[in-house]
Amino acid sequence: MGKFPIADLELSKIKICKKCKARNSAKSTMCRKCGYKFLRLKNKEPKAKK
Ligand SMILES: [Zn+2]
Repeated sequence: MGKFPIADLELSKIKICKKCKARNSAKSTMCRKCGYKFLRLKNKEPKAKK
């Protein structure tokens, strides 16, 4: 029952590690889990193609 509207906002400000898919802060320059340097921004796509 925990609804955090801010969580949804935070979701658009995270980076996904290309290697291990770990979620990192948008401010991160490298994965905090595996140290991989290539992170991609997780952005919501308005058009969800199936
Ligand atoms: Zn990683």
